[in-house]
Amino acid sequence: MELDIMPLFEWGLFTEPRPCVVAGPCSAESEEQVMETAKGLREMGINVYRAGIWKPRTYPGSFEGVGTEGLRWMQRVKKEYGLKTATEVAGGKHVAECLEYGIDLVWIGARTTSNPFLVQEIADALKNTDIPVLVKNPANPDLDLWIGALERLNRAGIRKLGVIHRGFSTFEKIKYRNDPQWQVAIELRNRYPGLPFFVDPSHMSGCRDYIREISQRSLDLGFEGLMIESHCNPSAALSDTRQQITPEELNDLLHRQLKVRNQDSDSPQWRDNIDQLRAKIDIIDENILYALGSRMNVSRQIGEYKKSSNVTILQTSRWDAVLAGVIAKGRQYGLPEDFVTTIFNAIYKASVEVQNDIISDKSSK
Ligand code: PEP
Ligand code: MN
Repeated sequence: MELDIMPLFEWGLFTEPRPCVVAGPCSAESEEQVMETAKGLREMGINVYRAGIWKPRTYPGSFEGVGTEGLRWMQRVKKEYGLKTATEVAGGKHVAECLEYGIDLVWIGARTTSNPFLVQEIADALKNTDIPVLVKNPANPDLDLWIGALERLNRAGIRKLGVIHRGFSTFEKIKYRNDPQWQVAIELRNRYPGLPFFVDPSHMSGCRDYIREISQRSLDLGFEGLMIESHCNPSAALSDTRQQITPEELNDLLHRQLKVRNQDSDSPQWRDNIDQLRAKIDIIDENILYALGSRMNVSRQIGEYKKSSNVTILQTSRWDAVLAGVIAKGRQYGLPEDFVTTIFNAIYKASVEVQNDIISDKSSK
C-alpha cells in the first residue's frame, strides 16, 4: 500500500539544517544521570532527547530499565531544558504511559518490529493521537516485515512516521555489532522517497570508534537524521557502555568531524547526487568483496575435502557447467557473456591456486 507520510520538517520537532539529531543515553538510569546528560546535550544544541525507559535485554539479569519512574525524569527534562523527549515502546501499556507523561516521540525497537502482534498492539494504542513514531528495522533483514510495521501504524492514522536503520543481527562476528546491509535501507528509500530516514550508528557499530564512519555514510546516502547514544559518563553506563559518547564528543562529531553537504547553497545539486551514487557503489563493492571472500572460504573447504578424499583439483566438466550457468544468469542481469566469462575465469583461477596450495600443503604454513 502507499504510505501517507507527513514531511519530517512539518512534525514540529526538527528544523534544518540536517542532520536531524535524536541523542541521549541508552537508558535512563537515575534522575541525576538523566538531568546531567540532558543539560550537556542542551548546551550542545540538541533538541530531541532520547532515553530508554524499558530496556529489551538479551539476557535476564541485565539492567532492564527503571520503568515508569523514568518518565517523570523525562518530564523534568522537557520542563527545565525545553527538550523534546523520546523513548522506546514495546507494547500498548508503554504507549499509554508515554502519552500520560507527555513523551513527544516514540520509537519501536528492532526486536519489537519483528513481531506483528506487538506492532499491531502499539498501532491500536496510538489511534487518535498524533505522536511521531520511528520504526527501527527488524533484527533480521526482512524488508517486508519492516514495511508491514509501517503499514500497520499508517493505517492507525499515524502520519508522523519515519524509520531508523540500525543494522541486522548476524551469527558471524563482524566488525560492527549489527550488519549495516545498506542495500536494504536503500531499497526502502527507493520505494518510499518521502519517508523520513534516520540511522542509528550507535547500535549499528556497537563501538564508539565507528560512529563517525557510519554517520558519514548515512549523510552521504542522503538520509535525514541520526539517533546517537550519548551519556554524561559513558564508562559508568548500565547498558551499551562501549558505544556511548559524551555530549562534548557528540558536538565534536556533528560540528567538526562530519562533512554535511548543504543541498541549497554552495554545493551544487549534481555534487550531492554524484556523492550519493558513489556511496551506493562503494557499498556494492564491499558486498562483492564480501561475496568473493566467502566463496574463497568455501573453495578452501572443498580443497581440504578433495585432499582427504584423494580427488584431483581440476574437474573441468564441473567448471564448464558452472560457467554455462553463470553466463545464462548474467544474461538475465544484462551482463555481456564476455564480461561474465572473464570474471569467472579469474575467480576459477584463484580458486584452483588456493586448492593447489592446500594439496601441496603450502597453506598450512
Ligand atoms: C535502543 O535504541 O536503545 C535499542 C534498544 O535499540 P535496538 O532496538 O536498535 O536494539
Ligand atoms: Mn542502547
